[in-house]
Amino acid sequence: MLPLDELYQEVILDHYKNPKNQGTIENPDYKGHGVNPLCGDDVEIWIKLENGKIKSLKSIGKGCAVSQASLSMMGEALQGKSIEEARQAVEKFKKGMLEGGELHFEEYPDLEALEGVKKFPVRIKCAVLPWNTFLEALESHPSA
Ligand code: ZN
Repeated sequence: MLPLDELYQEVILDHYKNPKNQGTIENPDYKGHGVNPLCGDDVEIWIKLENGKIKSLKSIGKGCAVSQASLSMMGEALQGKSIEEARQAVEKFKKGMLEGGELHFEEYPDLEALEGVKKFPVRIKCAVLPWNTFLEALESHPSA
């Protein structure tokens, strides 16, 4: 059995090397772009809704392992949720990262791997970047 830190590390590296939901969406309902100049992270996301739920969340990103793994996990975690449910999940995640809340998501347990990032305050921004980009996307391109 691996120590917890190494387990976290493996989950993060796996998402970094094999990011989920990579790509773009034509005619998205929302689109967002976020950067973290401190470490060169750059994420773009496209969101398509169907019947009020997130049918598809695609992304293209570059940057450090933490930001890219967080982006990959976010797409998996938010897909299928309504906008309101997604907002709640984002708030929960941000609380977990920034205010010491827990990162336990029954619907997507991989997110717990980002617990390890909290020990490195400069990387917290990397982990939160995709989630802030998601919130900004909702603001900048409200769906009709
Ligand atoms: Zn970063």
